[in-house]
Amino acid sequence: MSVEPGGLLGQRWETADRMYGMLSHVPLGRDAASLFCGELRPWSERLLAAYRSTPSSAALQFIGLRHAEVSAWRAALAVLPPALREPVLEALDDTPWRDAALPAPRYAEAALLAKLREGIYGGPPPPLVLVHVGALGRHARGLTVEGGRRVAANLLGDPEHTLLQVFHEECHAVTDSAVRTGARSTVLGTPGFAAHAALESSAVRYGAVVIDDVAPELRAAYARWRGAVGAAE
Ligand SMILES: [Zn+2]
Repeated sequence: MSVEPGGLLGQRWETADRMYGMLSHVPLGRDAASLFCGELRPWSERLLAAYRSTPSSAALQFIGLRHAEVSAWRAALAVLPPALREPVLEALDDTPWRDAALPAPRYAEAALLAKLREGIYGGPPPPLVLVHVGALGRHARGLTVEGGRRVAANLLGDPEHTLLQVFHEECHAVTDSAVRTGARSTVLGTPGFAAHAALESSAVRYGAVVIDDVAPELRAAYARWRGAVGAAE
């Protein structure tokens, strides 16, 4: 992460924008990974059925963030299981890159985020690329690629919520590997959901420790964020 004058420049990626844009029209229901915006498309039900019946479908939540280059992204889509690939490609045909022509937003809370990340990692944090995706709404996604961090979030959303959502994704980078779990599922009521819940609560609790340590002025904001995402004590 390099902090430039005026903030951290978020990036706009066609790959992430179109993937999360597509997923925002899939009504995943009782799934913590749901990004559903309330609007169905003609292909939504078909993609939902394929998503639910394909064991590896959770990969769709990260393919767009893993690949910044459209050609690499398309290659990754091409090797999805056929039952998932067909409805995904159909859906993407109908999901253009939203706001493609708009400039990438500058993330104003960059200095505060830098301080929080230093607290999370207990020293100089790995480089961070922030990707602006409006379709994520109040959600975020984080990924480690070749030692660097990538976090996708709606950088034009409520600044406090956005900051803490990015912060939370960064907490996962430290806590996920320390939590021993079996197979993880974000679907409520499935055997793997306990593993998901353990990973979440570990990241949320670590976040509280970091905030107490390096940014106690954010305690009340963190409590509000916990309430908003259903991670209250
Ligand atoms: Zn989380």
